[in-house]
Amino acid sequence: MKLLAIDIGGSKLMAGIVAENGEVMDSVRTELAPGYDADFLRDTIKTAVTSLPYAQCSAVGVTVPGLADPDSGMWVYAPFSGIENLDISSFLSSLTGLPVGIENDVNACALAERQFGVCKDVDDYVWITLSNGIGGAVFINGALYRGASGNAGEIGHVNVCDEDGRRCGCGMHGCLEAEAAGPAISEEYELRTGRRLTAKAIAELANDGDTTAVEVYKRAGFLIGKALASAVNVLNPGLAVFGGGLSNDFELLQPSIEGALELYMFKNANKELRVVKTGLGYNAALLGAATLAIKKANDSNNK
Ligand SMILES: [Zn+2]
Repeated sequence: MKLLAIDIGGSKLMAGIVAENGEVMDSVRTELAPGYDADFLRDTIKTAVTSLPYAQCSAVGVTVPGLADPDSGMWVYAPFSGIENLDISSFLSSLTGLPVGIENDVNACALAERQFGVCKDVDDYVWITLSNGIGGAVFINGALYRGASGNAGEIGHVNVCDEDGRRCGCGMHGCLEAEAAGPAISEEYELRTGRRLTAKAIAELANDGDTTAVEVYKRAGFLIGKALASAVNVLNPGLAVFGGGLSNDFELLQPSIEGALELYMFKNANKELRVVKTGLGYNAALLGAATLAIKKANDSNNK
């Protein structure tokens, strides 16, 4: 079985043909201008999809940032763009003639980790994306846990700095996302040095021994660990898996994540917890889309 996988991000679109074993056979990447609208997005998807041999695929999976409703196939809301209530599933099914599965990108990554990655044999885990924002997904008893309105896992909005912390996009202060995502790492480094750099550039400096850069990553890791400890105390997962762009430099974060767990986690109740980096690498979200397509193809066959 082959699947058409589409990963829509805030600044790029990836589309690919993925085999059932997770091998990416063919893929295209297109940059998206920030703040893109629905018409631009539909044109971009059409160009990407028609450049791939999708006729041989059994189903389509699409991952979107923000809120998605897998039952209605709608992309409900994207915080950084004008996209709202976009029926992307109907668009893709008329474009390709294939059944379509949709999910938000973080949930899809967690599903892919179970299908192809380090969670194949793990029933209870949390998946955390560290990027320009911080998102999370929760697996309980071998299934994705959605919550009452589909928004479970928002670890980015756990408070880690009381009320005097940085203002978050959600309107609160001191959320993990506002304190430890990529932009906060840039801001914290600038506060200490007067130099504005990307989180990636700061990671490179840290790896070259720049002590301020190391400290800034340590601070971010500690706050991530503090939020994770709360999640672990409530959920008792076997694994905490980290993905997203910042996880490329996970070794800069891991010691202080574990240091915070040491302080804030109920250790006797969570002896088995392991903190790891995703096994899916750069293609995590694309493999997430492929996982949705596999499920959709299997559901269609069973009808
Ligand atoms: Zn927030």
